[in-house]
Order: sequence, then C-alpha cells, then structure tokens
Amino acid sequence: MTQPERRILLLGGTGEARDLADRLKDAVGIAVITSLAGRTATPHLPRGEVRIGGFGGMEGLSAYLKKAAIDAVIDATHPYATGMTRNAAEACNALAVPRLLLRRPAWQAQSGDNWIKAASLEEAASEISRGPWQRIFLSTGRQEITPFAGLTGRWFLLRTVDPLAPPLPAPIRTVEVGRGPFDLAAETLLLKTWGIDLLVTKNSGGTATYAKIAAARAQKLPVIMITRPQTPEGKNVSSVAEAVRWALELP
Ligand code: NAP
Repeated sequence: MTQPERRILLLGGTGEARDLADRLKDAVGIAVITSLAGRTATPHLPRGEVRIGGFGGMEGLSAYLKKAAIDAVIDATHPYATGMTRNAAEACNALAVPRLLLRRPAWQAQSGDNWIKAASLEEAASEISRGPWQRIFLSTGRQEITPFAGLTGRWFLLRTVDPLAPPLPAPIRTVEVGRGPFDLAAETLLLKTWGIDLLVTKNSGGTATYAKIAAARAQKLPVIMITRPQTPEGKNVSSVAEAVRWALELP
C-alpha cells in the first residue's frame, strides 16, 4: 500500500529554505509549501508551492496548519526571526505536529577579528554611544534602525534589499541597495569608499554575507556582533542535507 502524501510547511526566507524546497520538490510522497514573510518587493522564490504573508500570530498559524492539513513543519527562517520561530514552536506543540528547526551555524571569531559582542540591538547602540566611532556600517537591515535613532551625531550607512523612500529615518545618512551574496572585493571597496570605522551585524552565519566580516578583519576594523537569540526546545539541525533526511523519514 502506498503511503499518503505528507504535507510539509516550510517556513522560509533563507537560502537554506530555497535549497531545501528545491531538493524536496521531486521527493515521492512529499508536498512542500514554502511560506515567506513578504519582506522584500521581489523575493527570490523557491521551486514549488509558495504562500506569502504573516499567518496572524500563533492562533493564525494553528488555524492554517489545520486548514491546510499540514503534517510537519520545517522552520528554516532567518536565525533572528524570533517571532515566527516562537509561534511555530507553540502552534506545533499545541497540535502535536512534528517540527524541525534548520539553523545554519553561527560565525565564529577567528584570529585577527575584533568582535565586540552585544546581546541586543539596544546594547549595540549603547556601545556605540560610549565609543569613538563616527562612520558606522549598520548591516542589520531596515527593520532594525529604531534602537540607533538617538545616535544622531554619528554617520550611518545602511544596506537594504529594496530602496528606501526618502526621507531617511534618523540617524541613517546613506543607503546602499544590495542583495547578497556579496564578495570580498566589493565589501572591501564599500568599507574603504565610505571610510567606515565600525561594522554592526547580526551573526547570520553562512557564506552569502560573510565577506563583510573578512573585509573588516583585513582592515582591522571592529565589529559589533549581535548575539544570536535562543531557540525553542526541540529537534534542530544545521544543514539542508539533515533536513532532507528528516523529511524523508517522517512517519
Ligand atoms: P519575525 O520577527 O520572526 O517575524 C515577525 C512576523 O512576520 C511573524 O510573526 C509572522 O507574522 C511574519 N513572518 C516571519 N517569517 C515568516 C514566514 N516565513 N512566513 C510567514 N510569515 C512570516 O521575523 P522578521 O520580522 O521577518 O525578521 C526578523 C529578523 O530576521 C530581522 O532581523 C530580519 O532582518 C531578519 N531576516 C528576516 C528574513 C525573512 O524573510 N523574514 C530574511 C532575512 C533576514 P504573523 O505573526 O502574522 O504570522
């Protein structure tokens, strides 16, 4: 007797999620629906079925899981997407739906790196207010500007995927529009062109946005590294290959 199709909700927004959707697309007996938050105007769409937009909190997600007859959830969101990850954990626990967290490993400091760790964006802003830096590359994304709004005496460069409509929010003075992957030569040029003396970043992990870290190291620039948020209890893996195996072994 053939097994019924298992329907997997893949919470995406990362390269790993796209890769996973691609690798499960033709798996026999598995249907994947990728969910995107809809943060960018022209998202890189994965292969297969896609839905876009929030679910409406934990309750909305629970209702969706039931209505769409989801058998399992793979959370492959960005490591700092704490709201979505928490909602997924709570909804899956409540409905006894199997859930896997796919998180790429965090970057580790290496010889020559000068990392100042900050537990939050607010802590990063407070560190900057006490420090000597004047020209700061804020690579944390457009959603994360508010904690820095009081630092109006400093010059901030922000990088966003989509252009920002003027006026720029305080304290941003310049915006670079760009979508990874970024390479070392381009990141080195960017830091030099703008005379950057401090980089602020999340510890996203992976290769697509690592070049800025290597460029900062080569130029002996300090980096304020926002520590990764904690993840909920549960099964987690760090590679797409492990997530593929988990999906194929679903009961
Ligand atoms: P979040 O705080 O976890 O999400 C906030 C809300 O957005 C969620 O509660 C959910 O809305 C909706 N959402 C998030 N991911 C979703 C998905 N895959 N499918 C459907 N709805 C989703 O995360 P965030 O605000 O998106 O981003 C947090 C951090 O992650 C930021 O630092 C951002 O720069 C970084 N990041 C996010 C993405 C991304 O694609 N989301 C990509 C790269 C980096 P409801 O409560 O209505 O369900």
